[in-house]
Amino acid sequence: MSQRLNNFTNWLKQNDCSFALLTEPKNVFYFTGFMCNPHERLLGLAIFQDREPFLICPNMEVSQAQQSGWQHLIIGYNDQEDPWEIVHNRIKERITTSSLKIAIEMDTLSYTRAQKLQHMFQQIEFLAAEPGVNQLRNIKDETELNSLREAAKLADFAIDIGAGAIKKGKTEKALVAEIEYELKKRGCEGMSFATTILTGDNTAAPHGHPNDRQIHEGDFVLFDLGVIVDGYCSDITRTFVYKHVSDEQQKIYETVLKAEEAAINIAKPGIEIGAVDRAARTLITDAGYGDFFTHRIGHGLGLGIHEAPSMSSNNTENLQTGMVFTIEPGIYIPNIGGVRIEDDIYLGENGSETLTKYPKTLQIID
Ligand code: MN
Ligand code: MN
Repeated sequence: MSQRLNNFTNWLKQNDCSFALLTEPKNVFYFTGFMCNPHERLLGLAIFQDREPFLICPNMEVSQAQQSGWQHLIIGYNDQEDPWEIVHNRIKERITTSSLKIAIEMDTLSYTRAQKLQHMFQQIEFLAAEPGVNQLRNIKDETELNSLREAAKLADFAIDIGAGAIKKGKTEKALVAEIEYELKKRGCEGMSFATTILTGDNTAAPHGHPNDRQIHEGDFVLFDLGVIVDGYCSDITRTFVYKHVSDEQQKIYETVLKAEEAAINIAKPGIEIGAVDRAARTLITDAGYGDFFTHRIGHGLGLGIHEAPSMSSNNTENLQTGMVFTIEPGIYIPNIGGVRIEDDIYLGENGSETLTKYPKTLQIID
């Protein structure tokens, strides 16, 4: 049994849980090596304390599941079959008690599916599987780290392409297309999320959508993007100015940069996560922009573009060796614009490593 599976089985035992049924594709991938987007069909991984686990997926996916390296049982089903009946029978083979504690993904398992499980047994108690899964997923191993490094390298490359493509009159959407075309030519498997390129006033919306606005002199140009490698995501933001920069723009930029560096410097194993957010926030507040830093300092990064831990000021958990997360302070002022600088950080045994390496000093694109 793989180390990951073994660790999770121990968590089940500690929590007196009969079994876990995982259906979130990234969690299934984490334990099986099988990446599958089942859409509305059931993809499930059942893990027991001391019985053989099983993977259930649509029949048409079985050969890929077999090639994924998963050593245990794979059950396929046809569209005219009820996969829940199969799940029920396979669980009954393994567990005979009628009162059960089951770990499910409380954040993502639909109510309809939870009811399917509920109706299988007389007495059932649900427990959130996320703490058990996330404590494993939070700590990246060497293989995962290599994928994350590669994804970060491609994100740097994408920013470089973007910076080189900034030109008067070019639209945000055109910049998106140019960057993604270059990445796809290099064989990139996908973007971590919809590439966000914003210019001028549009940069004042932290989660704005690229539109047909054209680049003008004096604009901020903000790139927020990420690339997927082996299922693992990168996430980078860089903000440039086009042709000339105002004093206010410069002050905003320097404040965000100082805040980002302060947060990166304080982020170490054993440090409270909230303190990382506060290090950046204090700096931004002292510069007079506190009201314009409207989101947390960052988020965990891995198979998920946003995963645990949440890097927010009220998170009292401590950072641990092996964690990967973003640091991404921003200042967004309506009618002036916004700046965000974002990097991906790995906490290693010998200090932190910034995976994204594109330069951060203010660049005025000519
Ligand atoms: Mn991010
Ligand atoms: Mn981002």
